[in-house]
Amino acid sequence: MFFVTVCPVCGGENRVEFADSSVHDVTCGACGARSCVFVRKQKFEVLFDLGTRALMDGYAREAVASFAAALERFFEFYVRAFALERAADSAQEFGEALGVLEGTWRHVASQSERQLGMFALAYLLREGREPEFLTAKALGAEFRNRVIHRGYLPRRAEVEEYAALVFGLIDRLLSGMGPVGVMQAELVQEQAFARHLEALPAGVTAVFEEHPGMFRARRFAPVPPGKSAASKAGSAPLNDAAAFARALDERGAGLSVFKVRAHRGAGGEG
Ligand SMILES: [Zn+2]
Repeated sequence: MFFVTVCPVCGGENRVEFADSSVHDVTCGACGARSCVFVRKQKFEVLFDLGTRALMDGYAREAVASFAAALERFFEFYVRAFALERAADSAQEFGEALGVLEGTWRHVASQSERQLGMFALAYLLREGREPEFLTAKALGAEFRNRVIHRGYLPRRAEVEEYAALVFGLIDRLLSGMGPVGVMQAELVQEQAFARHLEALPAGVTAVFEEHPGMFRARRFAPVPPGKSAASKAGSAPLNDAAAFARALDERGAGLSVFKVRAHRGAGGEG
């Protein structure tokens, strides 16, 4: 996935490929200035936005893999946020808590079934309830496997249904998460950024960006009064197809910010 970033020196636009680390070394195509662009975004957000873009661009089958990966990475985010929230409650030092968490995650990192087990327990301990939505049907597992493992070519409508299911689940769980855990989980990315920032050579400008996205916008922007009834946590139906349609309507256009603009101001002076 590409996004457009503005050169801090000359204001020119550069097209950059999204990196797994969210850290991007950029050399401006116009003036040659070097910058390092840090994008504050969680992996599940990046993957879901990637899926949404693929869907909007007509790549229905490709979108499924991104939505499925987004859900898996969200479960990881939930587990991490929960563990760090607990550690904060018991006044455990952040670095120590993170070290234990990373060590524990290594035992489950290569098997998604193990991760699902971790998530189920985290949900039980946090909510005091059974994660009744972890059935194959509620997760759309059969559809996902048919597309990813058996080469099924889905229709766009089927993928929209799957996207709505994943969106509804993440959105509901995200709105039920405490701010402490979310902040702590995001702090992990900030720390990685800080380490990279320290090692930047002289003459490279650091740029921090927050991109609009299907989830981020909802977490940082207040819900418009007219729409609040539909997004009450807990009371919303589990797989609310309308919620995805609404989010797409509200924020889908925002995702096209990542696209290279058609008009590049090719004549120079303005
Ligand atoms: Zn430049």
